[in-house]
Amino acid sequence: MREFINKEEGSIGFVPTMGYLHQGHLALVEKARQENDLVIVSIFVNPTQFGVGEDYEEYPRDLKRDTKLAETGGADAVFAPSVDEIYNPDHGTVVKIEGITENLCASSRPGFFEGICTIVSKLFNIINPDRAYFGQKDAQQVLVVKKLVAELNFAVEIRTIPIVREADGLAVSSRNQYLNDEERESATVLYRALELAEEIINEGERRVEVVKEKISSLIKEETDNIDYIEIVKQNSLKNLSEIKGSVLIALAVYIGQTRLIDNLMLEV
Ligand code: AMP
Repeated sequence: MREFINKEEGSIGFVPTMGYLHQGHLALVEKARQENDLVIVSIFVNPTQFGVGEDYEEYPRDLKRDTKLAETGGADAVFAPSVDEIYNPDHGTVVKIEGITENLCASSRPGFFEGICTIVSKLFNIINPDRAYFGQKDAQQVLVVKKLVAELNFAVEIRTIPIVREADGLAVSSRNQYLNDEERESATVLYRALELAEEIINEGERRVEVVKEKISSLIKEETDNIDYIEIVKQNSLKNLSEIKGSVLIALAVYIGQTRLIDNLMLEV
């Protein structure tokens, strides 16, 4: 990878992914293409960010398809290392961030953000990009990576894109392919719940618990397995006493066995 990069000139835009590329990933590639001379996409299903009993083994993989999609999407190179190349058997360095990794996905997925911070640090050190591209679909991840970059002094600019959705509102995700037809229909409830929240807030409701309760009732029409519903401050993920300012509404819900996340940012 380094040899390849050293031969090239100009700015590097980097899009880290776990592969099984979809329109969300390709929107990141497109933005990177607009803003850089060289665009590199990494494809690596990172074992250290999966917990026990999660879907590391089942996670969809198709490098041939991904490479084609990345190329037509505008990438100059795909970096797809093996797990052994990235993690020696005695690998012992972990990057841990405190402060914004206590709630939301961090509480239901212990070790998740350590895994992300470690792999992102390693990839930044290998590729040394000028800009790196992340989706708002993973809103907490964006904050975590920005903090990582600021506090470990990585010379990279973090760029973001809005959530890319299917026509019916479902956020595009590699995990959507786990859903059967019935579950695929139920899965639109995440977006419907966010829309409902926005509507209630626009009508003047400012009580966090009331909005959460209404979201929860709607979601329960489709599934009993809600991981979390949070309404927090956008920049700190801290709890709000009332809905005001820059607000993030974030959801994680199981549809069947599949855990889906979605979120909405509001200025109130
Ligand atoms: P993943 O392969 O799921 O780790 O995602 C790689 C990158 O793509 C992350 O920065 C995600 O936030 C971003 N991404 C995934 N799905 C979407 C989406 N529907 N809209 C925007 N960005 C996305």
